[in-house]
Amino acid sequence: MKSGQPYPNSWYHASCKEPQSLPSLCGDAETDVCIIGGGYTGLSTAIHLRKLGFKVVLLEANRIGWGASGRNGGHVGTGQRADQAALEKWVGLDAAKGLWQLGLDAVRKVESLVNEFDIQCEFGEGNLHLASKYSHADDLESEVAHLKNTYNYNGASYLCSDQVAELTSAQGSYGGMLDSGARHLHPLKYALGLKHAAMQLGAELYENTPALTYQEGGKTVIKTPEGQVRARVLVLACNGYLGNLEPRIAGNMMPINNFMIATEPLSEELKTRINRDQLSMSDSLFVINYWKLSEDGRMIFGGGENYTSRFPCDIKSFVRPYMLKLYPELKHCTIDYGWGGTLGITMNRMPDFGRLSNSIFYAQGFSGHGVPTATLAGELLALAINGQSEKFDLMASVPTHRFPGGTLLRWPGLVAGMLFYSLLDKLGR
Ligand SMILES: Cc1cc2nc3c(=O)[nH]c(=O)nc-3n(C[C@H](O)[C@H](O)[C@H](O)COP(=O)(O)OP(=O)(O)OC[C@H]3O[C@@H](n4cnc5c(N)ncnc54)[C@H](O)[C@@H]3O)c2cc1C
Repeated sequence: MKSGQPYPNSWYHASCKEPQSLPSLCGDAETDVCIIGGGYTGLSTAIHLRKLGFKVVLLEANRIGWGASGRNGGHVGTGQRADQAALEKWVGLDAAKGLWQLGLDAVRKVESLVNEFDIQCEFGEGNLHLASKYSHADDLESEVAHLKNTYNYNGASYLCSDQVAELTSAQGSYGGMLDSGARHLHPLKYALGLKHAAMQLGAELYENTPALTYQEGGKTVIKTPEGQVRARVLVLACNGYLGNLEPRIAGNMMPINNFMIATEPLSEELKTRINRDQLSMSDSLFVINYWKLSEDGRMIFGGGENYTSRFPCDIKSFVRPYMLKLYPELKHCTIDYGWGGTLGITMNRMPDFGRLSNSIFYAQGFSGHGVPTATLAGELLALAINGQSEKFDLMASVPTHRFPGGTLLRWPGLVAGMLFYSLLDKLGR
C-alpha cells in the first residue's frame, strides 16, 4: 500500500480548501475499535461507533478521502448495485425486499449525515438513467413498473426519448428512468465533512499512517511504521486499496480503475441544454458513463476504465471521447482536470460484508455504488460490533463468489470478461 501520497489533482481537490494534515501515529495506542481506511466506510463506522460510546482509532495511509471516496462521480443512487430481479433469484423475494429497503436507508443515511453535521457538499436531487440501446429502454420501463408494483416505490418514472430530450441533449438515448429518490454530491467535500463529524464526536484519526500488518490475539495488534494500536475489534475499510493486507478477503473483489474529467465552466445556454434540472445522469452501457454539472457549471464526466495497475498517462484524452459521443457540442470545451481512482468490484456486483472472526469485521466491493452503500456500511458495522447484527447479516447473506484464481490469478479471467462486455458496448449489442 502506497502511503504519504498527496490528493490527486482533481477538480474535487481544486474546489476544496486544502485540509490541514492530521498527525500520523507515533507510539502506542489502545482502543476498543481500530479502523483501517479513511474513506466513507471507515469514517461512517467511526461516527456510528462513537455515537454508541466506543473508543475509536482510525488509520489512513494517505489523506482522509484520498481513495475512491474523494474521487468518485458523487451519484447517490437508490437500491442496490445489482438489480432487484437478480436479487430475488439469489435470495428470494422477502430478503430482496429487505435489501431494497436497505438501499433506500443508505440514501437517507447520507442525507441525514449531511443535515446533522451541516456538510456543505453541493447536495442535489434526482438521477436520470438513459437507455443506450433499444432493448434497455424496455428493461427500464419494466423495472419502473416492477419497483412500483412489488416494492411500492413511486420515486421512479419511465420517460420516452422525447421526454428525455427535454432534460438533456445527450445523443443516442432510447428512453430513460428518472429517479427522484436519488441524490448527488461533491464527494471530497462529503468525505471531509464526515472527517470533521468523526473528530467532533471524539474519534482519533491519523493520516499518513499505513497499517503494515496485524496479529490477532486477546487484543489485535496493528503495526504501523512508527507505532502500534491494540484493539479489541478491527474493521477493514480499505476497499479497492486493500492490497496484500488481508489475503483472506482480497480475492472476494477485484480492484479496477475508473476515470473522470472536468471541463471548463460552461455557458448558461449549454448548461440548460445538457442538464436542464441539475440531475446526476448515467447511461446503461456495461462500462457506464456518468456525469453531472458542478456548482460552478463544469461538466464532471466519468467514463472508461482499465484493469491494470497503472492509469493511462493522458486521462483527459482517454475520457474525452466518451463525453463527446454523448455531447458532441462540447468539442470546443477545454478539459481542465482529469483523474482516476480505484474501486473494488465483486463478481455479482453486491458488496462483500463479513467477519473473519468475532473481532475482525469488513465491508468492501461496493462495485461503483459506494457513496450510499459504504456510508450505510459504517452504521451496520458499528451496530454489528455492538451486538445488533441483523442488518449487517442480511447484507452478508447475499452469496458472493471469489474471483477464479484468487488474488494471484484473478486478472486474466476478469480482463477477458470485462473486455468482452465493453466490446458489446462498442458494437451496440
Ligand atoms: C472514479 C470513480 C467513480 C465512482 N463513482 C461513484 C458514484 O458516482 N457513485 C457511487 O456510489 N460510487 C462511486 N464510486 C465508488 C465509490 O467511490 C466507492 O465505492 C467508495 O468511495 C468506497 O469507499 P471506501 O471507504 O470503502 O473506500 P476508499 O474511499 O477507497 O477508502 C479506502 C481507504 O483505505 C486506505 N487504506 C488502504 N489500505 C490501507 C492501509 N494498509 N492502512 C491505512 N489505510 C489504508 C486508502 O488509502 C483509502 O483512503 C466511484 C469510484 C471511482 C474510483
